[in-house]
Amino acid sequence: MSPTGKIALVTGAGRGIGKAVALKLAAGGATVIVNSLSRPNIDAAVAEIVASGGQADGMAADVSSPADVLEMFGKIISRYGRIDILVNNAGITKDQLLLRMTDEDWDEVIDTDLKSVFLCTREAFKYMVKERKGRVINISSVVGLIGNAGQSNYAAAKAGIIGFTRAASREVASRGINVNAVAPGFIETDMTSRLTEKQKQELLSRIPAGCLGTPEDVAEVVAFLASDASRYITGQVITVDGGMTGA
Ligand code: NAP
Repeated sequence: MSPTGKIALVTGAGRGIGKAVALKLAAGGATVIVNSLSRPNIDAAVAEIVASGGQADGMAADVSSPADVLEMFGKIISRYGRIDILVNNAGITKDQLLLRMTDEDWDEVIDTDLKSVFLCTREAFKYMVKERKGRVINISSVVGLIGNAGQSNYAAAKAGIIGFTRAASREVASRGINVNAVAPGFIETDMTSRLTEKQKQELLSRIPAGCLGTPEDVAEVVAFLASDASRYITGQVITVDGGMTGA
């Protein structure tokens, strides 16, 4: 199961789910490249990993920017020579009812949440195909499966990730590269801290487990998909949602 010695890139790892994933992979022995936008968040995540005995390297880059992604992969390859695990986690929301949604609200979410997955996976594949092994884990959302009013941009991006995962997995399965998606339900992070108490109560009534998930709940599944134990699993979407979509 252990990712010892593996080189892993986690996008959006400065906070929330990405940071929990970075900590989990580093605890298993991977060298983790912590990507995010904000330098202070990157530095804090790297410091936390190092303080717990792990290995980490911070790289600031906007993963919706083709130039930034190229530069980041250039650095990774020049420093480490390869990439074994890619976790496409960076994401934002810009919620608005469709009638009021601006072009900018749409483009920003599609570029950050979906185009970034294409840009980073395309780069990672170049090296994984040569190595004839690799793991790509894309963070989708239950919103991409069941939708949510006010989130048509986010739902489209997260559903797009699922289609992308299924198509990409077919292209590289014979090369020892697995591409899977994880679809979290409602997880306690900055992204969900904006919910009002009323919205939280309404949500809880739809979650059979009766509580929100934690970033660590998601990190456990990502770590499994990043490991050798998931050898025969590809093109799948695994929900981590306390039973929300299964009920
Ligand atoms: P979060 O706490 O808001 O953290 C998002 C992270 O992404 C931050 O580190 C942020 O960087 C980074 N980021 C944003 N835009 C970026 C960009 N253009 N380039 C690089 N990094 C960028 O979010 P979260 O709740 O942990 O969510 C993580 C992922 O899980 C997202 O894809 C989200 O859609 C998905 N998800 C979350 C939930 C949930 O309930 N929380 C549920 C389902 C799916 P800075 O720290 O520098 O700002």
